[in-house]
Amino acid sequence: MAKIIDGKAIAAKLRSAIAAETAQLKEKGIVPGLAVVLVGEDPASQVYVSMKEKACADVGIFSDEYKLPADTGEAQLLQLIEKLNRDPRIDGILVQLPLPKQINTDRVLEAISPTKDADGFHPYNVGRLVIGKPLFQPCTPYGVMVLLKESGVDLSGKEVVVVGRSNIVGKPVALMCLQQNATVTLCHSKTRDLAAKVALADVLIAAVGVPEMIKGSWIKEGAVVIDVGVNRVGEKKLVGDVEFGPASERASAITPVPGGVGPMTITMLLHNTLESARRRG
Ligand code: NAP
Repeated sequence: MAKIIDGKAIAAKLRSAIAAETAQLKEKGIVPGLAVVLVGEDPASQVYVSMKEKACADVGIFSDEYKLPADTGEAQLLQLIEKLNRDPRIDGILVQLPLPKQINTDRVLEAISPTKDADGFHPYNVGRLVIGKPLFQPCTPYGVMVLLKESGVDLSGKEVVVVGRSNIVGKPVALMCLQQNATVTLCHSKTRDLAAKVALADVLIAAVGVPEMIKGSWIKEGAVVIDVGVNRVGEKKLVGDVEFGPASERASAITPVPGGVGPMTITMLLHNTLESARRRG
């Protein structure tokens, strides 16, 4: 049976280190600050935003919340971002996605100063990741990399197969693995014979959003499986993109859903805000 990669425990360890480092920084008169901007009343976004604020409070990071009505215009949001770009108390700006359809998301993400881009979605930060000189790294893929490191997985020379090529998970995690000297295969909905590609993986990273679409029988004996997928099945149950039971009989280590990658995302947001505060001045 596979070892369970306990994202909750790894995140808790990291958060207590972040709390200690934040306290040290405060002694030097620097309080790390994160601005969280929410437009509209999407219930899932409201939950994410309040989780992010609570996480900031728990580690001593100052957070400033801006809740704007669903009919907010793009110009008004851009004005707020401009103000936050200039605010010396703010080290990170997070605009909760998705935005209402009257607002152009790309324009908003590009308006955030690349030096306060705590989510790492600005094209400047994407470009830095591509050339192997990252500044802010996007939180979920960054969290995946920390899970692998904390689990003692050395990626050098390994076959990594990533399923899913979104800008927020699949593409950046593939680049991060390449940077760690893995040989990376990036799969998507047009990939032929996905099972054969998955079977090559020493490390499989699934970020698809389709419940249990990756079958346990596809996984190579001894592979490490990181399941980014979070899929609601029925009223209460959450499952990943990988068939957990059969996969854990073949893998050497696997992340559960929930309790694997999930807790790492907000943790890396805290990390990014703290690192940004260190660069102040
Ligand atoms: P997304 O933007 O919808 O992208 C999904 C990707 O999967 C696309 O690249 C798509 O290919 C590919 N795909 C879809 N069906 C496929 C199939 N049958 N075979 C192979 N590839 C297929 O999703 P995302 O935002 O990356 O999120 C992926 C999953 O991770 C979701 O379950 C999401 O909830 C979860 N997630 C979790 C966290 C966390 O903190 N734990 C954070 C972010 C996302 P095409 O490009 O060809 O369409």
